[in-house]
Amino acid sequence: MKPMGPIPPDFVGQDGALLIGGRLAKELATEAGETPLFVYDFAVVERRVARFRAAFPGIGLHYAMKANPFAPLLERIAALVDGVDVASAGELGAALHAGASADHISFAGPGKREGELELAISRGATVNLESEGETARALAIAERLGLTPKLAVRVNPDFELRGSGMRMGGGAKPFGVDAERVPALVRHVVEEGAAFRGFHIYAGSQSLDAEAIIEAQAATIALAARLSEAAGVEPPMLNLGGGFGIPYFAGDVSLDVERIGGALAVAHDARPAVLAETGFAVELGRWLVAEAGVYLTRIVDRKESGGQIFLIVDGGLHHQLAASGNFGTVVRRNYPIALASRFGEEAHETVSVCGCLCTPLDRLGDQVALPRAEVGDLVAIFLAGAYGASASPAAFLGHGPALEMVV
Ligand SMILES: *Cc1c(COP(=O)(O)O)cnc(C)c1O
Repeated sequence: MKPMGPIPPDFVGQDGALLIGGRLAKELATEAGETPLFVYDFAVVERRVARFRAAFPGIGLHYAMKANPFAPLLERIAALVDGVDVASAGELGAALHAGASADHISFAGPGKREGELELAISRGATVNLESEGETARALAIAERLGLTPKLAVRVNPDFELRGSGMRMGGGAKPFGVDAERVPALVRHVVEEGAAFRGFHIYAGSQSLDAEAIIEAQAATIALAARLSEAAGVEPPMLNLGGGFGIPYFAGDVSLDVERIGGALAVAHDARPAVLAETGFAVELGRWLVAEAGVYLTRIVDRKESGGQIFLIVDGGLHHQLAASGNFGTVVRRNYPIALASRFGEEAHETVSVCGCLCTPLDRLGDQVALPRAEVGDLVAIFLAGAYGASASPAAFLGHGPALEMVV
């Protein structure tokens, strides 16, 4: 038997059956008409937002929509947060469609094409500039359109978020502009008559270490102040990045966000004078949505091989690549898994839960302890609210995409 990660405490059972948003998982699958199915419990997202608001008074909350762009979910999140961070023209269109105002959308990402810059500038979204070349293209497009572009500069910081799952700052990087070249770029943007919106400094992702995030935020504020002074500007906005992780695996402990909020309040109060009028924001993806999602997949076969039991399900890595361990992890570990119809029941056997794809990579649970399962039973895989449906190769092997619903 191998360990699995913790089931988010938001999920409880009723008479041994899993409830999602107060509804029986089995009923939701019947209502959807088909499995596999992603169910997103919006109350869980609301609780995360409320927890953030309580812990971070006066700090803006942005949603990094690449974590989960499902339109009905995005609409409801856009109404709760202060901004939506997008990374393509497709996401920009989706954010606008979901009701986010262009004033509160910022567009980061290397490799923005001409048409993408044009869309962002013409709609009035903020472009987070990733290079001098992109700056020149954005300014030329704005001039051609006769518009004043809203431009922020994404800084490749000279530090990184310690212990972060995915490093996106520090050293040679395709993201942002190296800190030492930023002041000259900002002066150029201002001289060209653009509306300078401030800085975007993103140092990493998926950290469960509050102390590391506190350090990175302090370093971010200090860097933003230094760059502002060197450029002679008072930035309207400072996007401090995010990096708030969630516990995926056995032994992971959830992040102490209250501690981070307390430290940020102190750092904000003591901010250098050049940032006195600057609005601070944090951009979060997975911390807001990952724990809200459950992937429901039905057992289509139960078999034995080499003395081991295999449960073969109708879903797989084509929907939940991350749970199979093939999305940015070095060692494959088990996401939390349960049987929807025997929720909270004691484990009875050790099984491997395998997807229906004809590849050995398609393993959703490796030798996990579960109650006895039969063909037709629903398996619930938790932490499916972020980097699930939209971050998996749905076309691979032709089984097609999963259904998604918000409850
Ligand atoms: C991916 C990304 C995020 C979201 O990361 P999470 O780990 O989902 O919170 C935020 N900001 C930027 C710039 C990103 O690239």
